[in-house]
Amino acid sequence: MDTESFATHLLSIASAYQTSDIHILPEQKHYDVYFRLNGQMEKQYYLTREEGTQLISYFKFLSHMDVGERRRPQSGSTTFALKEKSVDCRFSTISNYHSQESLVIRLLKQKETGNQQPASFFSKEWKQLESLIESKSGLLLFSGPVDSGKTTTMYHLVRNRMKGEKQQVITVEDPVEIEETSFLQVQVNEKAGITYEHLLKSSLRHHPDVLIVGEIRDEETAKMVVRGALTGHLIVGSIHAKNAKGVLSRMMELGVSLTLLEQTLIGIAFQNLLPIYCPLCEANCQTYCTNHPRDRKRAALYEVKANESLSELFERLRQQESMTTPPMKREFNRLLEKVYTYGYVTEKTYKRYLIPNE
Ligand SMILES: [Zn+2]
Repeated sequence: MDTESFATHLLSIASAYQTSDIHILPEQKHYDVYFRLNGQMEKQYYLTREEGTQLISYFKFLSHMDVGERRRPQSGSTTFALKEKSVDCRFSTISNYHSQESLVIRLLKQKETGNQQPASFFSKEWKQLESLIESKSGLLLFSGPVDSGKTTTMYHLVRNRMKGEKQQVITVEDPVEIEETSFLQVQVNEKAGITYEHLLKSSLRHHPDVLIVGEIRDEETAKMVVRGALTGHLIVGSIHAKNAKGVLSRMMELGVSLTLLEQTLIGIAFQNLLPIYCPLCEANCQTYCTNHPRDRKRAALYEVKANESLSELFERLRQQESMTTPPMKREFNRLLEKVYTYGYVTEKTYKRYLIPNE
């Protein structure tokens, strides 16, 4: 197969598998191609060194990178028209000290299949989220590491809120990860001067019923989402923090006062996606095992703070309680311990996903 045909084949397969990214990595004498499936890297192809370098050069060319530059890291993007649909991809290269390049391709805007509720370990937290999303206004924040399913959760909840009722939903993201035709999805483009700030400002002028903010990462964004929530909008956003409590500290670091937070925040969800133990695989369920369907090999573990538990969190923060305070009910680590005790996850998973103490 020539490079161009192989590239198309690779993207078609990756897209059919709903891979979030493709890794083309150099080994001493050849290249290995991996797909990230359910959070795990799985080897898919073996390429000779020549085939590997040609494939990388081809992708670099298509995504407008400097093909001759092999040492400096580069990034680019392009859209591929495949047979059934088009796929937006972001590319990034990095080289090892032998100047061997590796390339990672992130596949964006993967259409979700159906509107199946994301798999989760406990229904209590999920129900809390379903009720929070019905709020008329306020701020609902999601946190969790990369690839913990935050966008999927936010989208699913908002989609459900819209059922049978026309509502205006605007999303401001960098980049748009999931295509949803019933939302007005806008994307940050720093190069063209279209910043988060601009987009948020103009989105709020549209008076959406729900505004989804991809990531609250600076003071301006933080202040704007609070203002939006105060003026009668439901704002759903994600923010980087180590745990549920950390969301409050992070918002305060970004210049939002405790009083304003108490006035606007209706809930916090901290989540992670855990691989499920499979008795047939006697390990995390493998890609080709049919015991758990492909999109059910991981499930989300949510910690939700709302109503009393949220007030308690504010109270603890105000009193600056020390590390020795007993953990709160249904905290992430406690729920994790539970799923491990029930045998839903392996010991390795349990240890790996435990949030270390501050
Ligand atoms: Zn299995």
